[in-house]
Amino acid sequence: MQQDDIPRGYGSLAGDGVEHHDQVKTAVVNDGVSHRIACDRCGRGVELTIEWPEIIYMSQGQPPPNGQWEHNRQHGVFMPIVPCPACGDRVRIGITPDECNKLLKSGVHAGKITAPQIAGYVQRISR
Ligand SMILES: [Zn+2]
Repeated sequence: MQQDDIPRGYGSLAGDGVEHHDQVKTAVVNDGVSHRIACDRCGRGVELTIEWPEIIYMSQGQPPPNGQWEHNRQHGVFMPIVPCPACGDRVRIGITPDECNKLLKSGVHAGKITAPQIAGYVQRISR
């Protein structure tokens, strides 16, 4: 995992998560956490921003209701249904609820989302 794109202080992003894939770079942005992934098939960089509500859903072990994610029970990860713009192959990245919790912490540290906002979403999800 390269630290280049990660703002200082958000080292938790470099935790065990996204790096089933060794070429993922993450950065906290306003809308969520952006992931830069190299396509397994053609090597082209694909930008994927996971928005805060999506991250919150997945941190609760639920796929977001927008239909952009599927739950891979075998590996216990959520995978985006996103094609590579160059070759159309599915972007291969898996994210676990645990990782989502880490991303949320990073978001709170970065001032992009607040703990009460997260709690509000969680309440709505579990209702
Ligand atoms: Zn590709």
